[in-house]
Amino acid sequence: EAAINRIAAGEVLERPASAVKELVENSIDAGAKRIEIVIADGGKTLVRVTDDGCGMGPDDLPLALSRHATSKIDGSDLLNIRSFGFRGEALPSLGAVGRLTITSRSAGQDAAMVKVAGGEAHPVRPAALSAGTVIELRDMFFATPARLKFLRTDRAEAQAVTDVVKRLAMAEPFVSFILRDASGGEPRTVFRADAETGDLFGALHGRLKTVLGKDFADNALRIDAERDGFHLSGFAALPTYSRGAAVAQYLFVNGRPVRDKTLLGALRAAYMDVLSRDRHPVAALFVDCDPTLVDVNVHPAKSEVRFRDPGTVRGLMISAIRHALAEAGH
Ligand code: ADP
Ligand code: MG
Repeated sequence: EAAINRIAAGEVLERPASAVKELVENSIDAGAKRIEIVIADGGKTLVRVTDDGCGMGPDDLPLALSRHATSKIDGSDLLNIRSFGFRGEALPSLGAVGRLTITSRSAGQDAAMVKVAGGEAHPVRPAALSAGTVIELRDMFFATPARLKFLRTDRAEAQAVTDVVKRLAMAEPFVSFILRDASGGEPRTVFRADAETGDLFGALHGRLKTVLGKDFADNALRIDAERDGFHLSGFAALPTYSRGAAVAQYLFVNGRPVRDKTLLGALRAAYMDVLSRDRHPVAALFVDCDPTLVDVNVHPAKSEVRFRDPGTVRGLMISAIRHALAEAGH
C-alpha cells in the first residue's frame, strides 16, 4: 500500500505547488472562509495550510488517509463532479512522499491529530485546536529521493506556489487567503487577499484588483455571454494591458482553475487583430456549464479538461471578447 501510494503520488504531485493546490482545494471544499498557507524553502521543507472549514472528527482522520476514500462523491456522481480533487488520493499520496501531520476538529467533537511519514501512519491522538484544520507537510519527497532531483530552485518553486494560490484566490473572492514564506525564520507575507463582500460581480472585481492590480481592474472589459449551455463571464483587458508572456491568463471551468488548450487558443484568437504575436492578453474568465458538457478528470493535476463541444466554447469566447473590444473602440 505504501508503495502504491508513492507511485500514485508521482502522477499527481510534481512539486510543492501541487501539494499546495490539493490542500487549498480541500480547504475550499470544507467551506473555509479563511485559508493561510505557510511555506519554507520553496515548500520543499514545509507546506502548512490552516483553515476554518468544517474540520474532521477523530474517526474521520484514518479514512482521510486511505486511498480512494473521499467524502465528496458517491459512485453515481462521478460524471457530475463539481468538487475539486482527484477522488481521495491527495492526502495518502502526500503522506507517502513526505512527513504529513493532520490536526483537525469538527463541530461537537474533540480535536485530534494523526501523523504519517513515508507511508507509515501513526495512531490518531488527541490534540488541541479550537476549530478547522491544520495540515502540515514537511520534507516533501524525502521518501522518494529520485523525485527531489526534479525540483527547481527554492525561488522557482516558491513562485509556482504563489501562482497556484493566486489562481485559487481569483476563483474564490469571498474567501480570504494569506501566503507566507517562513524560510530562515520570521514569516514574510508574500500574498494577501482579504475576503470580498457584496455581489459576485463586485467581489470578483475587487479580487481582480488584489491579484492583477488596480490598473488592470479599472480598465478591464466586462464579459458576460451565453451560447448553447455555456456561460462565459469575467474580465478581459484592453490590448494596452497585454504582457510579454502569457502569465496573467486566469481561466476557470465550473469554478476550477484550468490550463485548457481550447480556452487559451480562443483567448489568443480573440485578440489576434489587435495584438502582435509577441504580446499576450490579460484576462480572468469563467466558463460555467452543465458538468456533463465537460470532462474535468482528463489529467486533474495538470488542470486539463475536455469539452464535449470545444467549437461552441471557442466561438463563444472569441465573439464575446471581440464584441467587447469593438465596443471599447478596438
Ligand atoms: P478528496 O479531496 O478527493 O476527497 P483528499 O485525499 O484530498 O481526497 O481528502 C480526503 C478527505 O479528507 C476528503 O474527502 C475530506 O473528507 C477530508 N479532508 C481533507 N482536507 C480537509 C480539510 N481541510 N477540512 C475538512 N476535511 C478535509
Ligand atoms: Mg482533495
